[in-house]
Amino acid sequence: MQTPIPEYLTELLDDCAGDTSGATADYIPELGEADPNRLALALCTPDGTVYSVGDDSIEFTIQSISKPFAYALALRDRGMEEVDEHVGVEPSGDPFNEISVDPESGRPRNPMINIGAITTHCLVGNPSLTTKARAAVVLDGLSRFAGRTLEVDESVHASEYSTRYRNVALASMARSNGFIDIEPDDAVWGYTMQCSALVTVRDLSVMAMTLALGGRNPVTGEQVVPQWVCRQVLSVMTTCGMYDAAGDWLSHVGIPAKSGVSGGLLGSLPGQVGIGAFSPRLDDFGNSVRGVQLCERLSADMSLHIMELP
Ligand code: GLU
Repeated sequence: MQTPIPEYLTELLDDCAGDTSGATADYIPELGEADPNRLALALCTPDGTVYSVGDDSIEFTIQSISKPFAYALALRDRGMEEVDEHVGVEPSGDPFNEISVDPESGRPRNPMINIGAITTHCLVGNPSLTTKARAAVVLDGLSRFAGRTLEVDESVHASEYSTRYRNVALASMARSNGFIDIEPDDAVWGYTMQCSALVTVRDLSVMAMTLALGGRNPVTGEQVVPQWVCRQVLSVMTTCGMYDAAGDWLSHVGIPAKSGVSGGLLGSLPGQVGIGAFSPRLDDFGNSVRGVQLCERLSADMSLHIMELP
């Protein structure tokens, strides 16, 4: 007889709990304060059922996991052609905060690294929006993916904005190359607001399942973005989602995914499952150590690798 899902998830969590390797990110001072022992996992199925274990009600800032969703919103609002003129889809193999641009055009390489993500944030909504209004549109979009109203952690936002210089350098480069047309400080203010949205693993699993269902939130039934947008977003997540470990991730785990520096990890398998994991200690690439392990196990135990024959 097959193990029921809740028992299986508990077993999985227990198996990974003992690994205390890695370290929390502390370049954003407030993130260094996070409890490193937190551990949680959630799965959302196509009918909107969410199974979760561990610290599943603990909220953490979404950080880079917001990037594919902001990309989705930019595609929704500006269309493929306009977004493509501003940000590419080539994996960079560079760390997330590298000045990673095409040498000839100066265009940011992809929307999953910071320079591309800051550019993407600026493409959401109507071009005439104020910085604050644009951030509100992004937050509203993230909330629709999650199926509930997400709040912002103001202290993480303040902490990240007060140490924003690297991101301002990236925004300045994007501006000087002609890919954004708002002040770098303002672009980073909005982008870091986006990164400071608070989520639980349950939210991540629903957001992931919404992408995996071609944009329809399985809990609310809302079509959040058109289906073609999700195909585009999942493709870019597949090649660029796991920082500079994306190739290794694709061959080992084989699930379109995105991780963030606060220790969250989201996996989205088209038509099948949405995964959310959380554990703040990160490996050398910036991916959650135990989040990666949990996904490796899920992929192996349930044959979730995207290249697996049915
Ligand atoms: N807000 C973070 C930054 O821009 C996100 C980084 C991440 O999660 O990779 O530095």
